[in-house]
Amino acid sequence: MNYFDDEYYMRKALSLAESAADAGEVPVGAVAVKDGIIIAKAWNQSEMLKDATAHAEILAITQAEIALGGWRLDGVTIYVTKEPCAMCAGAMVNSRISRLVFGMKDPKCGCAGSVLNIPDMPGFLHRFEVLSGLLANESESLMKAFFKNVRKSKDRKNKSKQDRNASTGI
Ligand SMILES: [Zn+2]
Repeated sequence: MNYFDDEYYMRKALSLAESAADAGEVPVGAVAVKDGIIIAKAWNQSEMLKDATAHAEILAITQAEIALGGWRLDGVTIYVTKEPCAMCAGAMVNSRISRLVFGMKDPKCGCAGSVLNIPDMPGFLHRFEVLSGLLANESESLMKAFFKNVRKSKDRKNKSKQDRNASTGI
């Protein structure tokens, strides 16, 4: 596997992150790859499923386990557009993935090097290789555009509330 393969799969993850944004979800996309074949594709669905555990990586891990017929993801690389949180990095340890490739760093929640380094914790039963920062600019601009839109629609809502209040004299 070389860097160009990594970029190919990360672009797939980015297009899934775009689908997340279109669905009103925080734009994070993930794919799981084994022997060059994509065995799972997912995007963050926390809003739709009303579930804090419905992160792209968790959904991709579950799909990959179904595809491989077991919970051990030996030889699997997970590509995700943003650095995984504690829960997702923990699930990667528990499912014994071989490698993680992620895009932008997450200084507040990232647990693959930013806040914690779960893939490389001394004493843990499993460690895995990490490549960070791949197409990070692309995932960052998706994220920025998403939150800009969220702010805009909040402003619009507030404004229409003010207008209503003004017209009713409240
Ligand atoms: Zn997560």
